[in-house]
Amino acid sequence: MENSKEMRTWLNDMALPHPLVIAGPCSAETEQQVLKIAHELKDTDVNYYRAGIWKPRTRPGNFEGVGAIGLKWLQKVKEETGLKTATEVANKAHVDLALEHDVDLLWIGARSTVSPFIMQELADALEGTDKVVLVKNPVNPDLSLWLGGIERLHTAGIKKLGAIHRGFSTYQKTKYRNIPEWQLAIEFQNRFPDLPLINDPSHITGKRDMIFDVSQTALDLNFDGLMIETHWDPDNAWSDAAQQITPKTLVQIMQDLKIRKETDEEAEYNSKLNNLRAQIDVIDNQLIQTLGERMKVSDGIGELKKQKNVAVLQTNRWNAILGKMILEGESRGLSEEFVLRMFKAIHQESINHQEKILKA
Ligand code: PEP
Ligand code: MN
Repeated sequence: MENSKEMRTWLNDMALPHPLVIAGPCSAETEQQVLKIAHELKDTDVNYYRAGIWKPRTRPGNFEGVGAIGLKWLQKVKEETGLKTATEVANKAHVDLALEHDVDLLWIGARSTVSPFIMQELADALEGTDKVVLVKNPVNPDLSLWLGGIERLHTAGIKKLGAIHRGFSTYQKTKYRNIPEWQLAIEFQNRFPDLPLINDPSHITGKRDMIFDVSQTALDLNFDGLMIETHWDPDNAWSDAAQQITPKTLVQIMQDLKIRKETDEEAEYNSKLNNLRAQIDVIDNQLIQTLGERMKVSDGIGELKKQKNVAVLQTNRWNAILGKMILEGESRGLSEEFVLRMFKAIHQESINHQEKILKA
């Protein structure tokens, strides 16, 4: 996809503002619910009104969406409020129905992006459409699957193409519902700087009180827009209740977010600086997490040594690590002096951890 340059132009051609805002309920529940939320979002920053009509649920038995009838409700939203509409499609039948009902933006969900078969079926069904099509990242942190899905759509002649970053599933327990793995989104942007990228803080956080923070990080990282689940009565939503916010909260969040515009030289400088700083923050967080994990492994070694009554300091092993890391550091432009100092500090912390265990 060398010609990704032409892709971003649809945002400008359609005179869409920055950031693009897609909001609305996780699921269409009733006609009244769909219209009530839409009217509350009518005179806000929202550009596209989202509502899931077919819901991919992890376990059967949960609410699986109202189906095609909901498309009529979305048509009413457009007539009554002028908002453009958006829904998820996961097979050819969904695509045909959504296009018949003139849905303006179709997104492909994380559970579909993982399957090249589904992606090809969708690309064939969407061939040549001038609707906006956004591809969510796959459930697992696999950049190639994500890009592969986009490439299939690009090959099918879809011009108004973009991506949605909704975080990644992990077995570890974290404060997120789906961990953001920002470095993957950064890599995505580096590979295709002109492909619009939207952030979905709702599915990343799973919790409404974290949405502002993740949205701000996304804007600092130069994302083009936000998709935020919004419901008039979030606690009683039929799906994803904990992460939905009210239209009023959405308006407040949009007001509070620092939106960086590239209007003059000063602003461009600041925007670049903020972007780089946000990248540094992501990497620093990873460093701390990785160091924390390393110390946990050290604790495990401490336990073993305690059982066998072995000394904490093993000089041979330490010298071997240092030698390897100095070479590795050199190949990445890090000075020997820096690598030595850093590893001495890490080693010391490791020894402290192990001693604590041996003394316990
Ligand atoms: C959704 O947007 O409601 C949804 C199901 O998202 P995802 O595919 O990211 O899980
Ligand atoms: Mn949802």
